[in-house]
Amino acid sequence: MPYPGGVWAAACAHAGHTCNPVPVAVDLGRCTNCNWMVNGCRFGAKRSMLLNYLPAAEACATDIRALHEVQAIAPASTAGYRYAISYLVLDPDDYRVPTGAGTIEAKLVILAAGAMGTPVILQRSAACRTRSAGTSRPTATA
Ligand SMILES: Cc1cc2nc3c(=O)[nH]c(=O)nc-3n(C[C@H](O)[C@H](O)[C@H](O)COP(=O)(O)OP(=O)(O)OC[C@H]3O[C@@H](n4cnc5c(N)ncnc54)[C@H](O)[C@@H]3O)c2cc1C
Repeated sequence: MPYPGGVWAAACAHAGHTCNPVPVAVDLGRCTNCNWMVNGCRFGAKRSMLLNYLPAAEACATDIRALHEVQAIAPASTAGYRYAISYLVLDPDDYRVPTGAGTIEAKLVILAAGAMGTPVILQRSAACRTRSAGTSRPTATA
């Protein structure tokens, strides 16, 4: 939300908040407050994930695995773990080509693949469950 957001900025201030750009997301030294940031910044002031959240995550010992495409989430087979996440490793030059595969078991999963990716994973997961249960789609009974 840019500074010139008049009414919204006033409403936030009235409630004791601010709608100023978050410093980690915007390079305030380069930002001109031009109010045209929705489709990218022509002054290069928007910081990418490579500069903001990912380094912070790595500093907290997060293991970031690029080119790993989640396929499905299923129940874990190891005691103490709840989910088994299967993935493909993709070719960096052609994402259609898998170069490896694997499974990670986890106690907690946060699924955040975006509005386009999350439903695909959930639907694939449901299809896997149906297949492993040896049944076709559930059918309604009268
Ligand atoms: C053109 C445009 C401009 C925008 N401008 C702004 C703006 O100026 N300010 C603002 O606040 N918001 C803006 N938004 C909205 C903002 O980008 C989204 O709300 C936000 O990025 C959503 O974050 P997310 O983490 O939920 O999902 P995303 O940012 O979509 O991240 C999902 C990630 O999951 C990955 N993924 C998908 N499927 C899989 C899979 N199977 N396995 C592994 N990884 C997978 C994707 O590669 C992606 O990296 C804009 C959106 C668009 C489209």
